[in-house]
Amino acid sequence: MQKLAVFGSTGSIGRQALSVAALHSDRFKVSVIAARSNVELVSKQIEEFVPDYVGMYDEAAAQTIKSRFPHVNIVAGGEVNALCALDGIDTVVNGVSGFAGLFPLMSALESGKRVALANKESIVCAHKLVDRALKESGGSILPVDSEQSAIFQCLTAGRKEDVKSLILTASGGMFRDFTREQLETVTPEMTLAHPTWNMGKKITVDSSSLFNKGLEVMEAGWLFGFEPDSVRVFIHPQSIVHSMVEYTDGAVVAQLARPDMRLAIQYALTYPERTLSHISGVSPAMLSGLEFFEPDRNKFPALDLAYEAFREGESLPIAYNCANEVAVERFLAGEMKFTDIPRCVEYAMRRITKGKIETIDDILCLDKQARVLAGEFAP
Ligand code: NDP
Ligand code: MG
Repeated sequence: MQKLAVFGSTGSIGRQALSVAALHSDRFKVSVIAARSNVELVSKQIEEFVPDYVGMYDEAAAQTIKSRFPHVNIVAGGEVNALCALDGIDTVVNGVSGFAGLFPLMSALESGKRVALANKESIVCAHKLVDRALKESGGSILPVDSEQSAIFQCLTAGRKEDVKSLILTASGGMFRDFTREQLETVTPEMTLAHPTWNMGKKITVDSSSLFNKGLEVMEAGWLFGFEPDSVRVFIHPQSIVHSMVEYTDGAVVAQLARPDMRLAIQYALTYPERTLSHISGVSPAMLSGLEFFEPDRNKFPALDLAYEAFREGESLPIAYNCANEVAVERFLAGEMKFTDIPRCVEYAMRRITKGKIETIDDILCLDKQARVLAGEFAP
């Protein structure tokens, strides 16, 4: 029996991770669930999965859960991250959204756990600390982000030194064919209706602005150890080819599947084994209409900004990620246009204090600064 801690259990990734665990209840025991404040859904999950511990980052929500379930071990606030380190937990699923995902990741890695990682913001902001924790405490990361899961699988086809490039695919979002003028008129409502993936709000906006792909370019580079020039992006609207690896001999190895995150989650949980899943296979008949094309970097500045942040690798990725989180919130609140998101991020990147990142305090300090800058940006 593999004991799981599911962080972000109420989110899109967390709910799908629980459904994978339920499908294979003979091999997974959900020992910890943790979320921020969604009391109603956590209550249902406690009844269904009977976890040993429940973490609620929001203190008031933790109180409500305590009053409803007096016999369950409830942990509140910042203490929740320590649940990743509990003895007996084999794997932590990190489906927390945004920068906050960094804390359970570090707690899990520092205690030598295996992490099924969906949260990409943590790698982008803290890749050096993550590398150090991986080396020092024997933990490991299995990628859940579908592109990284695909790359991880394609990399098993050859030696790392024989890889020429990683090719990440992107759906391109709903506005890939919009003109610059049309992009100026995109509203939050239009953005939140993503055609292929049913995801949390923040990543849904990021998918359309291509900030999600920008974050993934860095995530791929740092997870697998490749330089910016070796990571490429292609738009692939059908989201069947989840990414590819090009080898020096000219072979390109791709991973194909129907777009359903439960497959990537399950693979991270059962690796290196494969077993029956919720998903049916891809018939070759589905492949005839597949399209691939270069992204329009002028219309979507998120990509060039990401490569700039990737090359610098210290303060700029933090500015890129954390200013984007604020920009997305401001866009959803109606304070700025869709096209102001990259402007806001660039504003923060140009002004952030430059320097080497060595400690978690360095990261927290720059996170704060990036958020202030993104908040003061005048559209
Ligand atoms: P959701 O918004 O659906 O869920 C986020 C989860 O994190 C919820 O459980 C939420 O709790 C919790 N949470 C939110 N903010 C905080 C916080 N400040 N502190 C602690 N917990 C918090 O997000 P997704 O599931 O879509 O995405 C999660 C992560 O996975 C992101 O990093 C995303 O980039 C990545 N990812 C997602 C994919 C997807 O298909 N959804 C695909 C690939 C990667 P509550 O509900 O109580 O607020
Ligand atoms: Mg992805």
